[in-house]
Amino acid sequence: MSTIFDKIINREIPATIVHEDEVSLAFNDINPVAPFHVLVIPKRPIVAVGTMTEEDEAVVGHLLRVCRLVANAAGHEHFRVASNSGAPAGQSVFHLHFHVLAGRDFSWPPG
Ligand code: AMP
Repeated sequence: MSTIFDKIINREIPATIVHEDEVSLAFNDINPVAPFHVLVIPKRPIVAVGTMTEEDEAVVGHLLRVCRLVANAAGHEHFRVASNSGAPAGQSVFHLHFHVLAGRDFSWPPG
């Protein structure tokens, strides 16, 4: 199923892209909840962590390294990575994404 993130990958709608390579794309969240809020997504249409397969392992590992790269590139040594898997967990776009959040203190547990 196509999502709004496919449209960003295909440049059908605009986004502020901060990183791109063969397998991943990272762009600013349109509704940031922290001073730094970037989404890191695979170009491959994986739906969520909850549906990833063994074949996705290398891509997902790469995405986590990109999370570090984009945070560090913006000057953030400390950051939070979050991924909501399934609607009850808060997922609203059904294309895997890691939220990378930084620039303020975070509490635990999340809401
Ligand atoms: P989630 O609720 O975990 O699925 O996260 C989806 C995220 O996508 C939310 O933080 C939204 O603000 C973000 N989002 C939705 N549409 C866009 C868009 N067109 N460009 C950038 N971020 C978006």
